[in-house]
Amino acid sequence: MSAAAPNSKSQSSLREDLTCAICCDLFTEPVMLGCMHHFCKHCISTYWRGTQTPVSCPQCRKEFTTKHFQTNYLVTAMVEKVRASTSDCYVKNIQKRQKDLLEAHRQRREDFITVLNRDEDKMECIKRIGSELQVRIQGEFQALRAFLAEEEACVLERLRREQEAALEQLQRHLEVVREAVSQLDHSMRLLHEAATTTHQAGLVELPQLRPPLEVDPGPELDLNGFSSRYMAPLQYITWRKMFKSLKPGPAPVTFDVDTAHPSVYVSRDRTIAVDCDSMVPYQPNPKRFLQSVNVLGAQGFQDGRHYWEVGVGSKAKWDLGVASERVDRQARVKLSPESGYWTLRLREGDQYSAGTQPWTRLQVGWSPQMIGVFLDCDERKVSFYNADDMSLLYSFSNGPRGRVLPFFSPCVNDTNQKPQPIQLLHYPPVDLTC
Ligand SMILES: [Zn+2]
Ligand SMILES: [Zn+2]
Repeated sequence: MSAAAPNSKSQSSLREDLTCAICCDLFTEPVMLGCMHHFCKHCISTYWRGTQTPVSCPQCRKEFTTKHFQTNYLVTAMVEKVRASTSDCYVKNIQKRQKDLLEAHRQRREDFITVLNRDEDKMECIKRIGSELQVRIQGEFQALRAFLAEEEACVLERLRREQEAALEQLQRHLEVVREAVSQLDHSMRLLHEAATTTHQAGLVELPQLRPPLEVDPGPELDLNGFSSRYMAPLQYITWRKMFKSLKPGPAPVTFDVDTAHPSVYVSRDRTIAVDCDSMVPYQPNPKRFLQSVNVLGAQGFQDGRHYWEVGVGSKAKWDLGVASERVDRQARVKLSPESGYWTLRLREGDQYSAGTQPWTRLQVGWSPQMIGVFLDCDERKVSFYNADDMSLLYSFSNGPRGRVLPFFSPCVNDTNQKPQPIQLLHYPPVDLTC
């Protein structure tokens, strides 16, 4: 039994120390003889019964003149302790605690293994995403490099052709002039010979000469123009062409007047929207927002990647982003992906939030004057950028399914405040063909 208890080795030796040499069991009412040996009171009394003095110690044989012993309370207490610690109840209790502890450790270990697996899964996931992103980034830069290489080849080829054409023209002219010179040389020789001959013979006669060749003044080559075409700000010209080829580059989004709330005024070119105090005349249209001062873009998207920029200037409040084509224009709803809106909002001039439910407050360093909206239909992402420095402000990963439209709310204008517009930014159209 003692083997089940903790520190069983030291306890078994203690048990031996507390064992009576007569009954070979733990002391019962231990008493100590003059030789310091202990026995059960009952055992030593029985051992000595009927024996005349002197009596002896059963262990060391030391003799005593009287049958005297004294109770040892310290040993009594120790015996009680050892007895208690080896009792069935005690051992069961210890065994239960051991089992419980083991179970607790096993559970804890299992929890740690779960965390470990999760960490490992995350690491694998990050590695996988990292490699995918690496391929994507390389693809994007490769496209830019391919564009530049093609542009460079194109410009060099144009230069080569122009140079060749000019040289060819000059070469032809040069041959004509050479021929003319050679003919003149021939005529001069004839004249010279004729002069000498006539002088000697006394005959005066002109030699037969071919009429001199007519030579045009040569090609009018504009050397200044030739070099100017290539001494141009070539990097900027190329960058402008490259800008047009960006995928996605800033899209020239316009407002859809038919969707504008009656108090939202939209400019004639459909790039400026502003909330007015009064209603502007409007045609009834099921596409029109009637509850909130909203307006949608005219261009819908349902696949591919798209980017557009919105000038918000120093406007103190606005909402913008994308809205599902199916949003209820007649209802007043909280803007969130659940209701078909993926938006960024500004309130009080410096409180930026993502349009989640509840709103997600964003820490934005300084107020962007332009916001870039990036819609990736295939990856279902809607991201917002500070278009001044292209830093990411927020990204929805649970983006829309199906057709969406650019969404804007200039927000109700505070009374006594000059209304400030939302402006769709368009970049000058570039049509530079190679
Ligand atoms: Zn005994
Ligand atoms: Zn003794």
